[in-house]
Amino acid sequence: MQLSCEVCHSPLRAEDVRLDLAVAKCHACNAVYDLSGRKARGLSAQRPEKLPLRPKVALPSNFRVEEDGPTTRISWRWFNPLTHLFLAFFCIAWDGFLVVWYGIALNMEDKPIIMILFPIAHVAVGVGLTYSTLTGFVNRTRIEVNRDQLTIRHGPLPWRGNQDLPGRQLTQLYGEEVARTNKGSTTYSYDLLALDREGRKVKLLSGLTEKDQVLYLEQTLERKLGIEDAAVDGELARRTHAA
Ligand SMILES: [Zn+2]
Repeated sequence: MQLSCEVCHSPLRAEDVRLDLAVAKCHACNAVYDLSGRKARGLSAQRPEKLPLRPKVALPSNFRVEEDGPTTRISWRWFNPLTHLFLAFFCIAWDGFLVVWYGIALNMEDKPIIMILFPIAHVAVGVGLTYSTLTGFVNRTRIEVNRDQLTIRHGPLPWRGNQDLPGRQLTQLYGEEVARTNKGSTTYSYDLLALDREGRKVKLLSGLTEKDQVLYLEQTLERKLGIEDAAVDGELARRTHAA
């Protein structure tokens, strides 16, 4: 049985697929996604019994979930003690240095223009970093999903990436692993993406820290949006042609 990637259509290698977990990670585009409930796409047409149903992914420890009739709300704080306390100390040192610098410059008799202009780029970095550190302390991401609508909000401090998407526009959700190498050590983060009916990629979330978070969101949101059921009972084709 040859599987190909649902996102970039490269043939998947044996090591890309964990049939026991029903999860695939494409070596070509780094997409991570659920393999169960894909029968409508012809993935398992010959041997449907070979693709197991994926067990329910455990709720990530920092996620809070509320069920409210047809609507599910998922939210989590951005705060991560290690990252944000380190950033807070860094901001205090950085901003403190600039305060001292400007204290000296503005108290000089002739207020030399070079001393005022020289650290302007550092001021910009300080403002950006301090703001993003503050969001780490106070912000949450809130997702509200039901059959018709997917809403994503970041706040209370404004941040890019709020979304309102009609549910029937999305045909598949998947994760993407992003690797960053710094001084020989690699850290991974995960983005959550969707394909719309025209096959275009829509980025839903970025910077998730755990693979389980993206797999949980993929599974839960697909279920609520009716994508998974659709794939199993063939409704997807009807929905696609209903446009
Ligand atoms: Zn791929």
